[in-house]
Amino acid sequence: MQNYPNSYYLDSLERNLIQHPSLVDSHECDLCIIGGGFTGLSTAIEASKKGLKVILLEQNKIAWGASGRNGGQIGPDISNGVESLEKKYGFEVVKNLWDISLDAVKLIDQRIDEFKIECDKKSGNLSAATSQSKVKIFESEINYFQKKLNYYSSKILSRDEVSEAVGTDRYFGGHLYEEGGHLHPLKYALGLADAALSLNVEIYENSKVTKINEEKNYVEVFTSNGLVKAKNIALCCNAYLEEIDAGIKSKIMPIINYMIATKPISKDLQKTILPSDYCVCDTNFDLNYYRLSSDKRMIFGGGVSYSLKHSEKLAKNTERRMLKVFPTLSKEKAEYIWGGYVGITVNRTPDIGQSSQRIFYAHGFSGHGVALTGIAGKIIANSVFSGEKGVLETFEKIKHRNFPGGRLFRMPLLVTISALQKMTDIFNA
Ligand SMILES: Cc1cc2nc3c(=O)[nH]c(=O)nc-3n(C[C@H](O)[C@H](O)[C@H](O)COP(=O)(O)OP(=O)(O)OC[C@H]3O[C@@H](n4cnc5c(N)ncnc54)[C@H](O)[C@@H]3O)c2cc1C
Repeated sequence: MQNYPNSYYLDSLERNLIQHPSLVDSHECDLCIIGGGFTGLSTAIEASKKGLKVILLEQNKIAWGASGRNGGQIGPDISNGVESLEKKYGFEVVKNLWDISLDAVKLIDQRIDEFKIECDKKSGNLSAATSQSKVKIFESEINYFQKKLNYYSSKILSRDEVSEAVGTDRYFGGHLYEEGGHLHPLKYALGLADAALSLNVEIYENSKVTKINEEKNYVEVFTSNGLVKAKNIALCCNAYLEEIDAGIKSKIMPIINYMIATKPISKDLQKTILPSDYCVCDTNFDLNYYRLSSDKRMIFGGGVSYSLKHSEKLAKNTERRMLKVFPTLSKEKAEYIWGGYVGITVNRTPDIGQSSQRIFYAHGFSGHGVALTGIAGKIIANSVFSGEKGVLETFEKIKHRNFPGGRLFRMPLLVTISALQKMTDIFNA
């Protein structure tokens, strides 16, 4: 079993970690969930609320994967701009997906209230334009939101307003989602695990699933020391899915992303750096995203690698990127550096569905998982409970291609695509 990576999130927990047992012997349940991140925990909470007997198996620790390592940024939208899906799937699908993404954002606040989760939640999510042409895209986006989606909770910020809110004049304008925000992801995930336990979910850590075997009336789920016979299973392993395939593995690509946390910034700098306390994400393909923690550290992410190599170099690169945006942080240096796998799909829309009658799955949140994982769990639990597709049908309308080139060649191909996209960032800047 692997322990949590050394991160600011781990060191800032104000609680003791629960040691969940490892699975031994044979068990039976209605729903066996594989993966103890946001998706698995959300599915467990919702299914258990409906009276299903639920067992959750995590290979390492709860929220050991992306859920305990991410930027904590919460925003609506489901893809690279939901409007981009209209041409292919029609307005009704777009509207459904948009509403689901709004529900996903609201669900976080509902859970924080319902289960009294202390996770440093703040409001305001700002997209910051790295070129004038990106401001034009914001304008057409907001026009689409208001005229077609009837959504009025976001607004354009001028160059000066962004400069004041963020503390840098490098952006050309912004799109502020007032309902969005940010939180401490590991605190939130552990709070969800507490909630699941209170609802009688059986949680096992250090319980890596090595094989699944679907029979007519149940699925057998094997770990090295135990077995679960479940009426249904939910695969919630996202970019950490390895041994098990179930026909879904090629739909997503793991890319590695790095985060740093500085020391708490000085009182003087706090007046100018992110006085708004929004979280910020820029519009580059190779993007920077950042926010302040509750103790005023800069939590900064950026620097994607498709090759899963050169980790030390890329981690340092994240610090350089932060200093480019905030040169005044040169004395605040990174105190923590950690990385994790983000699962992306070809079209950057999550892949949520059923790979067979008894096997459900959700993955490929493509950088929008803090909010969307919650609703994905709810959708799966509803479908398992009712035996009907329900909202799952909307997601199954979105067709997901396999990453081209097969397992061996898709990474080099993506490195090339990513390099070309980065050039577009440079020329558009
Ligand atoms: C550095 C970084 C920054 C990010 N920033 C943001 C952000 O700011 N906003 C946002 O919306 N999204 C962000 N994301 C994405 C977001 O974190 C994910 O979409 C989300 O956490 C996915 O949750 P999950 O539960 O599906 O997967 P995970 O949290 O990755 O959980 C999957 C779990 O499955 C377990 N597992 C795998 N295989 C097995 C097995 N065989 N048996 C048992 N268990 C298994 C793993 O150990 C893991 O714990 C970021 C991701 C990273 C890595």
